[in-house]
Amino acid sequence: MVARVTTFAFEGINANPVDVQVHMAGGNQPAFTIVGLPDKAVAESRERVRAAFRAIGLALPPKRITVNLAPADLPKEGSHYDLPIALGALAIMGILSPDALDGHAAIGELSLDGQLGATLGVLPAAMQAMEMDLRLICPEICGPEAAWAGDGNLAAPNLISLINHFAGRAPLSCPPPGELAASPPGLDLRDVKGQDGAKRVLEIAAAGGHNLLFCGPPGSGKSMLAKRLPGILPDLSAKELLEASQIQSVAGLLERGQLSRARPFRSPHHSASMAALVGGGIRARPGEISLAHHGVLFLDELPEFSGQVLDSLRQPLEDGEVTISRANRHVKYPARFQLIAAMNPCRCGGGAGDGRCRKGPRCAEQYQARLSGPFIDRIDLFYDTPAVTAVDLTLPPATEGSAEIAARVAAARARQAARYAGCEPSGRRALNVDATGQELTEFAATDAAGSRLIADAATRFSLSARAYHRVLKVARTIADLDASETVRRVHIAEALSYRRRPADADTTARSGVLAH
Ligand SMILES: [Zn+2]
Repeated sequence: MVARVTTFAFEGINANPVDVQVHMAGGNQPAFTIVGLPDKAVAESRERVRAAFRAIGLALPPKRITVNLAPADLPKEGSHYDLPIALGALAIMGILSPDALDGHAAIGELSLDGQLGATLGVLPAAMQAMEMDLRLICPEICGPEAAWAGDGNLAAPNLISLINHFAGRAPLSCPPPGELAASPPGLDLRDVKGQDGAKRVLEIAAAGGHNLLFCGPPGSGKSMLAKRLPGILPDLSAKELLEASQIQSVAGLLERGQLSRARPFRSPHHSASMAALVGGGIRARPGEISLAHHGVLFLDELPEFSGQVLDSLRQPLEDGEVTISRANRHVKYPARFQLIAAMNPCRCGGGAGDGRCRKGPRCAEQYQARLSGPFIDRIDLFYDTPAVTAVDLTLPPATEGSAEIAARVAAARARQAARYAGCEPSGRRALNVDATGQELTEFAATDAAGSRLIADAATRFSLSARAYHRVLKVARTIADLDASETVRRVHIAEALSYRRRPADADTTARSGVLAH
């Protein structure tokens, strides 16, 4: 006889159905084996299930118990197989009626005393269960998370409560979904004194989804500005919210099933390992770039990140997802983030003494050379933040705060949404940053003076096709902020001002290599 319970194996944020088959046979050699590509945590299920049974006064029969996790070629990782294995064993021992588990899926880790503890990935599992028309049985603490996928799931504090539920003695109820956290208030651009130019470029970045690099001496407010970017971005849409929350669920970051409409903001330290940043590791986990999905990834002290780590961001910046190689397969995580980076002009900060580096221009050159060309190529906007002067500090508070800027960003995004509505392949955002060359030809028509200006610039700075398109995309966004369908000369001129000067364009201008 075989008892079957459905559970899930996670691959990226996909919950793939796994059939847990529990078989019991006679024989004089009692045994308990798990087969079907289990990892160490899954194999240890045996001990947890055995101890949990003992804790509630049950003993596994002295027979040969075999647990098969099918399909066998799908790797099984994690401790959430405890509950389905235990339920299968209860069914085969006759403690649950043979058909009790029909129409259910289960996920959860058992403690040695039979309690069910917090488990990763409940939200994607509940969504997949819903799709398969199954009720998900999960630990009580994860109930509010499961409830986001829909009604009808079961949240159980322990094994005994499930036995009582299926015996009809004490039916378990379905928990309501966790709270929808309001966007955190706090960080307002009104707090940043002066830096009008930097605020403007931040607004452009927010409006078109462009990647941005601030370069300036310490104390010029680079990170203060970057941290205020989520505050001028629109809230997550329902679809984005679910996607971002699934990643957080798999990473174990959804506390009490609380979801947030605010755009994620992740700022990993420059010493972060490759696995921490892009994902992976011994047990596959989403990295910072995936936790920043639909939000902002802020890299402070950009040249201090290892070159290898930065280069690994190139593909995700292009594709919106990251592929991690595992033992014998590739796992994909979504990673469509907006990159905001900040750096000092040189290693010593460039702000010493009277505000200049004392080691001379080579210091800045060497520091900035640590960023590879192909990486820098993914950045659309470059802005040198000037040092904050004493005069800036005496300025009255800015008249305009994040709310006013967010309204203009939303209006510019609405124009883009209308524009790209007809030509949207799946997964692509209706933002100028994602526009193809063909779409730019169609939608970024320039006036005569604008055409002349960009043609001049293309020759003078020998712009590559990629750089040319980048200028057009940024100009398109600036025109959108201006509520103009035509990209005019003034828009192109401003876009050109946010270009990075190529290193070899002017070897005499050495003070600010990233000058625009
Ligand atoms: Zn220096």
